[in-house]
Amino acid sequence: MIIYDLVCDNEHKFEGWFKDRASFEDQKRRKCIECPVCGSVLVEMVPSSISIGGRKASAERDRGEGQNVSVPSMLKMLNDFIDKNFDDVGDRFAEIAIKMHHGEEPKRNIRGVTTTEEQETLEEEGIEFLRIPPPPELDS
Ligand SMILES: [Zn+2]
Repeated sequence: MIIYDLVCDNEHKFEGWFKDRASFEDQKRRKCIECPVCGSVLVEMVPSSISIGGRKASAERDRGEGQNVSVPSMLKMLNDFIDKNFDDVGDRFAEIAIKMHHGEEPKRNIRGVTTTEEQETLEEEGIEFLRIPPPPELDS
């Protein structure tokens, strides 16, 4: 999973989540990436990226580009992003993910909770999903 910093033609900066670079290029080409502020689909990538859980994040950080984002605040950003962009389906996550996989539900970004058993079913079905830790308590 990769987070790209994106900018639209009205210079709104936002973040997009993509499986990989190719998936970003594909969605951009199909104009599936939309600025959350103005809805423009003319978006470009700001050249800096964070891979979740990968080594790239620290490499980028060490180069001193952008802000020095701590892990808790990155997780918070991630959770905020998911909050805004993903449909909360609660404990129906596995059910809906499987329906989407079989084309019985329109594909969309969903989030929710799964049991260990449901996660095994999803894995058996070959459905890609991501487990994200809950937002940490931030000291303010
Ligand atoms: Zn915009």
